[in-house]
Amino acid sequence: MNDMPNDMAADPEASAAPTPPAPIIEMPEIRRTASPAHLLPPMVWLWVVFRPWALFRRQARRQSLGSAITSVAINVTVMVAIITVSILSEEHISGDEWYGLLFGMAAVWVVGLAFAVCVACATAPAMSCAATFAAAVRRSAPIVAGMTSVFPVATLLFALIVINEGNLRREWLRPVFGDNSEFPMIVAGGALCFWPLWLLWLGLRNEGYGLPTPMHDTGHCRCERCGYDLTVTSDQGTCPECGHAAELSTDGARRKPPRPERHPGKAPLGVWLAAFWHAALRPATFWADKRVRTDGSKARNASLTLTALSATAAGLIFFVLFGMVLALTENVDPDDLWPLAVVSLFVFACAFMVLLLGNPAIALAAVCVSRLRGNTSRLDELGRLAWYSVSAPQIVFCVAGAMAAAIGPAAEMISGYRAQEVLHLSHTEAAFAQTMLILLACGCGAIALGALVWSFVAAVRAMRATAHANF
Ligand SMILES: [Zn+2]
Repeated sequence: MNDMPNDMAADPEASAAPTPPAPIIEMPEIRRTASPAHLLPPMVWLWVVFRPWALFRRQARRQSLGSAITSVAINVTVMVAIITVSILSEEHISGDEWYGLLFGMAAVWVVGLAFAVCVACATAPAMSCAATFAAAVRRSAPIVAGMTSVFPVATLLFALIVINEGNLRREWLRPVFGDNSEFPMIVAGGALCFWPLWLLWLGLRNEGYGLPTPMHDTGHCRCERCGYDLTVTSDQGTCPECGHAAELSTDGARRKPPRPERHPGKAPLGVWLAAFWHAALRPATFWADKRVRTDGSKARNASLTLTALSATAAGLIFFVLFGMVLALTENVDPDDLWPLAVVSLFVFACAFMVLLLGNPAIALAAVCVSRLRGNTSRLDELGRLAWYSVSAPQIVFCVAGAMAAAIGPAAEMISGYRAQEVLHLSHTEAAFAQTMLILLACGCGAIALGALVWSFVAAVRAMRATAHANF
């Protein structure tokens, strides 16, 4: 996407200054030069269903809110219809069961639509160049609509797998996978559930990326410490309210972009990591001399990259740790690695889902708290602060969460007869080891949950520290 023309005008809502009307760049032009992501096989599926290119546009606001809601409603309806048909083709429904089926399908419809609305609202702080919540939701709605466009296809494939399970196993899977023939089906089912999430990730990353991010105009000349209006105070004076040197508030050159954003081209992940750790550990110090009034698609994309990497690390840590536990406590067959790999994929998918939906939700909660405290910053500015705050804790969440998931079951296994024999443990020693492992698992779980609280607190503190920043 990076090599696309950079001359799309900024969103008229993005700055108070009057901007010339946006030059219309026709979509065929963009589609021809779009990212290699188009070549990926799932994209080919997506291509034929419900205007999928909405996902890849930098300025999603061209699709109206109405058409986004309509396409979500259609997608959910088709999905419910496919589920209904597949149930009817498998089972004979009689009498009162019809009411149950109708009620169940209505519930699925409502949940599907509510999910889309919640995702659109929760991802609002991730939208670039959106000053207000309403503008952000208008931008996120087409992305969510694009995400739901795979619901019908995914449901259809899922239903086909379930209905033809016996055939699939006999004809295709057993000859290749032998006794483990159910695992490819579990992986395929999991991949279908994961598909919309992955598209959401891709859609968020592409939204507004590469657009010019001009300095926002605050229109204020406030004391950065207390918010007092310094219009009539000289630059050499002090704030009449709190005594803070006026120069510190009015000197725009004092606030520079964080190091990764100053980097020519794309900053390496290590530079981002250093900035993210600093921003999460000491938000007030970090933001004391950093530019605040600007858009955050770079930080958001670095954070989303970290989300994918952290979730992958969670899967790998689980695979290695649990594999070691298995090797210590049981006779491990190479065939046992299949189920372990599937469970590790499941751990990866869970971590990815929790972070992909949880981080924006934490960001939104922090925005709400700081708005209630009187912070009048733009939504995209607050969103940027939030991305800096949630990025380091998500790594801790994944590492600690994966350790808890692997050590918890290990505590149960170590008390087994076989484990005692292999490790030469007496009954008392095994009981002691079990208690220690349970405590360790609980500790890791607490650290993982604590990391989520840490993200929220860091975001709220960053927003409080920058509430009156002029630049
Ligand atoms: Zn002051």
